[in-house]
Amino acid sequence: MSVRKPNLGTIHHQILDLLKANPDGLTIYEIRDGIPDIGVQQHLDKRVRDLRYYHDIPLIKRGKTSVYIYKGERSDAAADSGAISAKVRAVVLHKAHGRCQMCGRTVAEDGIKLQVDHKIPRNWGGTTTIDNLWALCQPCNGGKRDFFASFNDEQMKVIMAKESVYERIAETLKLHAGTPTPAWLLEFVANADDWQEDWQKRLRELRYPAIGMKIRATRKKNEAGRWEAAYILDEWKDLPSNHKFLIKEHERLIREGKRKGVDENGDD
Ligand SMILES: [Zn+2]
Repeated sequence: MSVRKPNLGTIHHQILDLLKANPDGLTIYEIRDGIPDIGVQQHLDKRVRDLRYYHDIPLIKRGKTSVYIYKGERSDAAADSGAISAKVRAVVLHKAHGRCQMCGRTVAEDGIKLQVDHKIPRNWGGTTTIDNLWALCQPCNGGKRDFFASFNDEQMKVIMAKESVYERIAETLKLHAGTPTPAWLLEFVANADDWQEDWQKRLRELRYPAIGMKIRATRKKNEAGRWEAAYILDEWKDLPSNHKFLIKEHERLIREGKRKGVDENGDD
């Protein structure tokens, strides 16, 4: 899911042609191999995300890798009015199995009513697509709306559009530094692109000494009066531009340390 309306250039169209020519899907590396003079990979990732604003290109797990598969144009790309069709609403409610996807209470046992809601609000760039919709009970939906109203929409739009999942998580935690940020919000911002991101692992990685964020797990009473998991950022340094490399490097050193029988230090 892309969060802003991107302009498409030559490389976008080359990617699109490649995907259309390979209906079984391509890994990001195969896409890169198919495009001459492409440069660094993160730009390619971003271009695929741009394309997803207009086209349905899910990332599907295949064995140990993931492939992008071209499924066609997105019918909702032209004009996202935010209106949820009866059909989409029915799909979302069916997937929820009568359960609020935030607090877990059910229609059958707790007598709640479910409302279909945008996970990432439209004014943060969220789209009206099934992967950005969920079913919430009225107290959770109302509480979420109140909580989100305390954010600066423009600021959130900037955070949501950041390429690096680490930046999105770090920036969101900084907005609430010293106070609890609900876990579900971190999950949201981590998954701005795909609903497959292992956000808890990303959070652990931000705690590596090379990155130096001091993040503490806690609980917070939400607007609906229920306890929920949350995280507090106590200390941080600016995220270095090579943070992805530093994280990989830290993991490599830990692995080598383990092989040598050295203690694993500072991993948590
Ligand atoms: Zn609920």
